[in-house]
Amino acid sequence: MAVDSPLIIALDYPSLDAALCMADQLDPALCRLKVGKELFTRSGPAVLEALHGRGFEVFLDLKFHDIPNTVAGAVQAAAEQGVWMVNVHAGGGRRMMETAVERLQSQRLSTHLIAVTVLTSLSPEELRETGVCASLDDQVTHLAQLARKSGLHGVVCSAQESAAIRQSCGEDFLKVTPGIRPAFATEDDQQRIMTPAAAMQAGSTHLVVGRPVTQAEEPMAALAAILTELS
Ligand code: C5P
Repeated sequence: MAVDSPLIIALDYPSLDAALCMADQLDPALCRLKVGKELFTRSGPAVLEALHGRGFEVFLDLKFHDIPNTVAGAVQAAAEQGVWMVNVHAGGGRRMMETAVERLQSQRLSTHLIAVTVLTSLSPEELRETGVCASLDDQVTHLAQLARKSGLHGVVCSAQESAAIRQSCGEDFLKVTPGIRPAFATEDDQQRIMTPAAAMQAGSTHLVVGRPVTQAEEPMAALAAILTELS
């Protein structure tokens, strides 16, 4: 199904049953779903099959980071299971990213491949501790450009970074943004939040939303309220 909505709902659950219970309350015409490390490690490809069977497009958020051949194999495996989007760490380098892109192309797989630049959980001090001398903002821009030159379709980034990445990598380069809090929601443990409308205005192309929808009394009503905020 081709979905027009920018919303990607994060299914952060420890079991297949809990994840499907939430998915069954959502409409695949109005959102995509994100499956992360915990859910996938517990439930494996069964979760992808179950969500695809319900008509959802899936972002498999496993952030691969390894030698080029290994990452290309993992990306191919994800794409062959029909996921709409999968990601790698840009820090794995140009050859790692190019090899993954080439693998998708050679197998005629149309899955979107995006990169994580600098984890938004890292502080400037923590980034320096890893041996990176550039400022955090410069490192994000640098890795986003490297991902674009390597042929990737976009990056995961905070909405605060979307405008700079739009400027350096263009409109068409995907900017997939977590840390979204609609006007009606609480902040939870997110630090640098933005409303859906502000994030889209800043250049984000897709919004990852978890708890404001999944912990709402009526998840589908919360999702609809976000789409209304955006319209
Ligand atoms: O519940 P909430 O909306 O905060 O969930 C956001 C989702 O995006 C979670 O799956 C979280 O792991 C993910 N994420 C994030 N911040 C990042 C990267 C991913 O919140 N920098």
